[in-house]
Amino acid sequence: MQQAAGDRVNLLGLPRAELEAFVAARLGAKPFRARQLMKWIYRRGAAHFSEMTDLGKDLRAALEEVASVTTPQILARQDSSDGTRKWMLRMDAAQGIETVFIPEPDRGTLCISSQVGCAMDCSFCATAQQGFNRNLSVAEIVGQVWLARRELGLEAAAGGAAHGITNVVFMGMGEPLANYRNVVQAVSILLDDMGYDLSRRRVTLSTSGLVPQIYKLAEECNVALAVSLHAPSDELRNELVPINRKHPIAELLSACWHYIERQNGRSVTFEYVMLDGINDRPDQARELARLLRDRPAKLNLIPFNPFGGTRYRRSPDATIVRFRDVLNDMGVIATIRRTRGGDIDAACGQLAGRVDDRLLTRLGLKLPNHGPRTAAALR
Ligand code: SAH
Repeated sequence: MQQAAGDRVNLLGLPRAELEAFVAARLGAKPFRARQLMKWIYRRGAAHFSEMTDLGKDLRAALEEVASVTTPQILARQDSSDGTRKWMLRMDAAQGIETVFIPEPDRGTLCISSQVGCAMDCSFCATAQQGFNRNLSVAEIVGQVWLARRELGLEAAAGGAAHGITNVVFMGMGEPLANYRNVVQAVSILLDDMGYDLSRRRVTLSTSGLVPQIYKLAEECNVALAVSLHAPSDELRNELVPINRKHPIAELLSACWHYIERQNGRSVTFEYVMLDGINDRPDQARELARLLRDRPAKLNLIPFNPFGGTRYRRSPDATIVRFRDVLNDMGVIATIRRTRGGDIDAACGQLAGRVDDRLLTRLGLKLPNHGPRTAAALR
């Protein structure tokens, strides 16, 4: 994060009630001022109080004194041949996070990160390799949407293909439910009609299976839920998604059905990465179908996206299609996720966020240390 000067409060990421309390306490202003501010910050993408012309000169001057709108900093941007864009945002000297925009004919999906690194240690995920660094703040989570909207808006203004963000998915780096409080606050801003005003069906939270937090979420936050299942048995899932040792499949599925019931939701989307020779046999598809049939469940089969140093391979296309057909024949809706942004390492599971040497050099930030590129080594 860029640091706000002095102890000014960053208004980006303050949920509406907190912003109302802030304008009352610090500026003696009425609650509608908070709504005006939110409109400027989120809908119009303003970062400077001087732009907020309907606020009155005195109020703007007072805001300059006590508040800021501070977003993360873009370090690099890559564009895929398929239109996918990826931004790396700076978090500290050696670490970044990645945000990916995936345009489709009927929608634009922004895939955002919730942590720097991840502690879940899933064996097939690139983010796991860098370990866990820290949780993102609400401003850093919402800031990804703010920046992507600005970038896409600039493109549109320059005559590029205009494409809005219609969907937001927490499928970037990190485990959103391990950063529960900040993620729930960020979601409240995504849904707020003075914020990004997204429909609750167009915000998806993806989890590796933190069961207690799924129950909590069912009470506090109504969004679409995706769950990374990846295996039909505890034995295999323990190996692929280690959190399964704590919260095995039966418990996880009970939490999912509770979530749907409590929220009056349609279905949980189960993600299943297709790993050659590991979890892609027809008998495993049948085992999976027995777990999910007659339940509010959909399966999304994700062809494995390789990264340096992985021991896994992607299942052949024909194997994936056969796996899907077995599920469909047994009455479970399964679709195959089309890989996007693979040429810029923006596909599922490829986000790493390591600020590499070349980038540091280009930015004049290269540090003399040649040890492992961890935040600790570079501090
Ligand atoms: N931590 C959350 C969200 C991040 S990952 C979760 O586990 O759900 C988003 C999806 O990409 C998850 O289903 C994850 O399992 C999957 N994924 C991770 N690594 C992958 C890889 N190398 N190839 C394909 N999908 C991968």
